Amino acid sequence: MSAILNNIPAEAGITRIEYEGPRIALYTRNPAFLHKNSYVVSEIVNSLKKRVVTRTEKAIRKPENEARQALEKLVPPEAGATSYFFDDALGEITIEAATPKALSQEAGFDLGTAMEQTGWKVKVRKAPHIPSTAIQNVYYAWKAGSETRERFYRDLGESIFRPRLTSTEHVTIKTLGAFQEVGRSCLLVETSESKVLLDCGIHPGARNAWDAYPRLDWADVSPADLDAIVISHAHLDHMGFLPAMFKYGYDGPVYCTEPTLPLMTLLQSDFVKIAQIEGGRLIYDQKDIRDTVQHAITLPYSTVTDISPDIKLVFNNAGHILGSATIHLHIGEGAHNIVYTGDYKYGRTQLFDSATWNYPRVETLITESTYGAKEDIMPVREEVEMNFVNAINEILRTGGKVLIPIPAVGRAQEILLVLDQYMRNKVLVEAPVFMEGMISEATAIHVSYADYLSRELRAKILEEGVNPFASEYFTEVEHPSNREEAFREGPAIILATSGMLEGGPVLDYFENIAPMEKNKILFVSYQVQGTLGRRVLDGSSQASLMDESGKIKIVDVNCAVQKIEGFSGHSDYNQIIRFVGKVRPKLQQVLVNHGEKRKTENLAYAIQRIYRVPAIHPAVQEAIRVY
Ligand SMILES: [Zn+2]
Repeated sequence: MSAILNNIPAEAGITRIEYEGPRIALYTRNPAFLHKNSYVVSEIVNSLKKRVVTRTEKAIRKPENEARQALEKLVPPEAGATSYFFDDALGEITIEAATPKALSQEAGFDLGTAMEQTGWKVKVRKAPHIPSTAIQNVYYAWKAGSETRERFYRDLGESIFRPRLTSTEHVTIKTLGAFQEVGRSCLLVETSESKVLLDCGIHPGARNAWDAYPRLDWADVSPADLDAIVISHAHLDHMGFLPAMFKYGYDGPVYCTEPTLPLMTLLQSDFVKIAQIEGGRLIYDQKDIRDTVQHAITLPYSTVTDISPDIKLVFNNAGHILGSATIHLHIGEGAHNIVYTGDYKYGRTQLFDSATWNYPRVETLITESTYGAKEDIMPVREEVEMNFVNAINEILRTGGKVLIPIPAVGRAQEILLVLDQYMRNKVLVEAPVFMEGMISEATAIHVSYADYLSRELRAKILEEGVNPFASEYFTEVEHPSNREEAFREGPAIILATSGMLEGGPVLDYFENIAPMEKNKILFVSYQVQGTLGRRVLDGSSQASLMDESGKIKIVDVNCAVQKIEGFSGHSDYNQIIRFVGKVRPKLQQVLVNHGEKRKTENLAYAIQRIYRVPAIHPAVQEAIRVY
């Protein structure tokens, strides 16, 4: 730090240097200077090999209303600024703008001037087409916890950048969930210096607590012992248990990508609400979710970040859902590298570019195997889309309704794009499309974090200002009392959450639609064993649902039931094999997880045979020394 102070020009007005979690923060009285002369900070980054950010000294920050007025004068009307979020802990203002392009250097907007006139650091993000409560809630939680967060960042920095205690290196992976099963993804990486948890999910179909939650008890690790929790993406089976960690004493950092945070809080809050309505077990509440948000540190893709004295973390695109990431851990000074894929799609979809495969180094690969059996080959996308269209057309033509149970995040947005495109081209019978559940909210987050979408969608949203998820065919059912139109006689398509018929508005539609032969339930996503969706898909002719008063209702399933294979955000067998073969440099070992037992076995065997790399498929509750 003294090296920084000695070498930095006096005009930079540096007043102090502090840890800010995994970053080093330079506090300045002259933010405009550092903005204009960005080489100053780049040089520091290059010499320290640490993440460095500039922060404005508190004394120069104007009070919120004055800063807002100053900004409103600077921001041109064509930017369509909708909100200004103030983050006191970081001294940052985020401008939400309908047209972020209007706030670029090329458009004549200078961030340096904005910082000079407000005394705050200024950032710009695309405003969603409808206000997103989830995004707002993140900012509110941050604001409410400003003081605690400031302290948290400083203390966290002290422990990340502390000197190492040992010189020996060893790395052990403990399997706590989603090994020889799908659900409750969780594994512990233990080194001589640190304990880091990767993912922390719940098992949606489990019948008892032993199978529902990560086996932290077996690993004999208490939440307070952990240095960090890293979340690959915002699906409940990867992060549904996370707030419970805070409830039981964890108060360290949660690393995830920027869009993962609002998506995660959205799904966790919904999980709590559904449990409340259905009288299910509440393993945490809204307060614990807020606590999680206040400890979250969001990172963009491809940024190297120190998360403990001997572990560096990098997220890369996993192509699975918005913000989904593969987790690359670089351990020790070049001792060992782990890549944990989380859920990934090695292939293009309407929404995302294909998962990243080129890592600077990787010795241990942990790959999912949801579709890891040899017969799990998906048709090409055009064929998948045509199968989907045909499956709907035959029902719409005879006046029936198609219910698509859908996960709010990812699959829903992809299906919206497909429905609109094929209806406009008159390939798909034109019919009203109703959606209920958190689909619109999740879609708003997709628009706001368009940087994380495929190149084409990104350009459409950010350059052309078009919302690709909007359509004249779509109607949002905002409240259960507005369902009349959707239930009215005549053909219709209904998209409702949840995707596996485990709670949510989809159950009311299911009750209405399943008994009639002319209708169809059309699945487009993976159905985990033990869920109602899986039972219906496997041909169950009756389903039992619980009503609000806890009474069991029996619903006859007389309608057609079909699953369209191939819309999945997971890699199919061929894609996994190709991905493993592509990962460079040569792997030392592969661990196969996140698949039904037979699939993990099959995939591990195939990898071993094809690439001559040791591949194993451990069960839950195993410890594997990888270095
Ligand atoms: Zn997933």
